Amino acid sequence: MRAVALVAAAGRGERLGADVPKALLRISGRPLLDFAMQTVDACDEVEAVVVAAPPDRLDEIADVANVWAKLIEVVEGGESRHASIRAALAAVPDGFDAVVCHDVARPFASAALFAAVLIALDHADGAVPTLPVHDTVKRMNGSEIGETVPRDGLVLAQTPQAFRRRVLEAAHRAAAVDGFEGTDDAALVERAGYKVVSVPGDPSNLKLTTAADLRVATALAVGLRG
Ligand code: C5P
Repeated sequence: MRAVALVAAAGRGERLGADVPKALLRISGRPLLDFAMQTVDACDEVEAVVVAAPPDRLDEIADVANVWAKLIEVVEGGESRHASIRAALAAVPDGFDAVVCHDVARPFASAALFAAVLIALDHADGAVPTLPVHDTVKRMNGSEIGETVPRDGLVLAQTPQAFRRRVLEAAHRAAAVDGFEGTDDAALVERAGYKVVSVPGDPSNLKLTTAADLRVATALAVGLRG
């Protein structure tokens, strides 16, 4: 299968308290988008990449993305993550039959993880890296603990997530009909009735959401280098 990566880089990064979009935030001097582009570049199974950027920061995002040979296009992202992925999907040329959706907020995803989700498409419509839940999970009731949720069978989903292209397109069309908004791409594909499988996730594939996550990521990047 010929695969293209769709990088969701149109978030504002508000929860990080930054004044630049998350894709342009730097760790170890490099914008987060550069990490995603380098990983895609290192992955032989991915031929090309489309990046969704905040419409008002298109040029700055393009400056970072353009140095990587696999870039096809930087498109204007949407109001939601799904809208951003939809815009990137619409820019994929004919001839690609697999897509790998990835959040720019996960700078430590490996090329091996991209390959693993793509290989899993041999026997599924979609593939998601997951990690077991080790912490005890509680549901709140207002400001008090309401109950403890059994964690058997619960997993944490990461990106990159791979899908057959036609499946992701159909899942987006179905979600648009009833206005469904999920928090990852697989949520759309699962609810449209397709088979999504799990591959082992990577504990170091952190998602940067808060300023504290950024500090951890900076320490980790220094550790990886040194
Ligand atoms: O907000 P959150 O951290 O869940 O965003 C996950 C990913 O989706 C990030 O990589 C962000 O850049 C992307 N995103 C996007 N378009 C939006 C909102 C988020 O591409 N409108």
